[in-house]
Amino acid sequence: MEQEDVLLVQVGGAAAWPEWQAAFQAAAPGLRVRAFDDPAVDPATVTHALVWQPEPGWLARFPHLRLILSAAAGVDHILADPQLPALPIVRMVTPETAERMGDFVLFAALGMVRELPALIDSQRERRWSPRLTGRLASQTTVGVMGLGQLGAHVAGRLRAAGFQVMGWSRSAKQLPGIECLGGQADWPDFLSRSEILVNLLPGTPETAAILDAAAFARLPAGACLINVGRGSHVDEQALLDALDQGRLGAALLDVFDLEPLPAGHALWSHPRVIVTPHIASTASRAARARQAAHTIAADRSGGAIDHLYLHARGY
Ligand code: NDP
Repeated sequence: MEQEDVLLVQVGGAAAWPEWQAAFQAAAPGLRVRAFDDPAVDPATVTHALVWQPEPGWLARFPHLRLILSAAAGVDHILADPQLPALPIVRMVTPETAERMGDFVLFAALGMVRELPALIDSQRERRWSPRLTGRLASQTTVGVMGLGQLGAHVAGRLRAAGFQVMGWSRSAKQLPGIECLGGQADWPDFLSRSEILVNLLPGTPETAAILDAAAFARLPAGACLINVGRGSHVDEQALLDALDQGRLGAALLDVFDLEPLPAGHALWSHPRVIVTPHIASTASRAARARQAAHTIAADRSGGAIDHLYLHARGY
């Protein structure tokens, strides 16, 4: 990193700063890293910013900013800024991000096979109702929407655990042991065979509300949904209708249109829904600091920068 380079960290508020500072100290001791609210920082010195949900207009305050580093794999929260400077944006993808997502989706898929939402509901009502599921992982087909950094890893983990796995992405892929489908033409077939549907698409205008009433209607009766992509992918009313009509057997939802999910929202108390608070895969600060330091070093040396958001593609 050049002597004059300064990385500003705007993730997790003031309370998180000491941990970020320690993580960067361990990852890259020479890096000049400052907190977003440090009054001693001259905005003109800031060259890199690591951000989660920057206030609209905040990033435009730094005239010499070169690179925006997202603290997450998705960047939709950054793109929402109408005054966003026209700079490269780097997605935060670490080996730990994929591993954590793999753990989470495996847990969720096995939970669906063993009817975890119904078991939790019975416990809430102190009802001793043994549930004998006929399903085995090896007899269950999981469809993974999105076969990128995370989706491809997740598909492999599910396959290794014994599930039958299909994947669907914009362009068709080749992944060992996975039936890979691609593009609009394959979408109906993909849906009609997905007994457990896992969403790992990025939030883009093209993927908004992709899981609507028509999509739910194509799934096998009683299929389960695991949404770890974005809330914007799901038409929530259509989801509730599909659950109430029994078209969907259950859903595990980690992401929502509005986060935090409002206290009065029907999804909180639905007996066949498990709600988790966007925790499927947040890499540790140590892993993210290492990745950010790696990116900044590549930027400084003029090397290739991994995980760049591509404006033309939308993800
Ligand atoms: P990538 O950009 O690596 O992969 C995206 C995948 O989606 C690619 O396979 C791409 O197809 C496919 N895709 C994009 N647009 C379309 C489309 N219109 N139709 C069909 N397929 C499409 O992303 P990651 O795997 O790193 O991350 C995926 C998402 O996971 C993130 O954007 C974020 O929203 C979410 N996420 C959620 C977390 C959580 O804790 N809940 C944590 C981390 C990420 P192709 O391969 O052809 O380009």
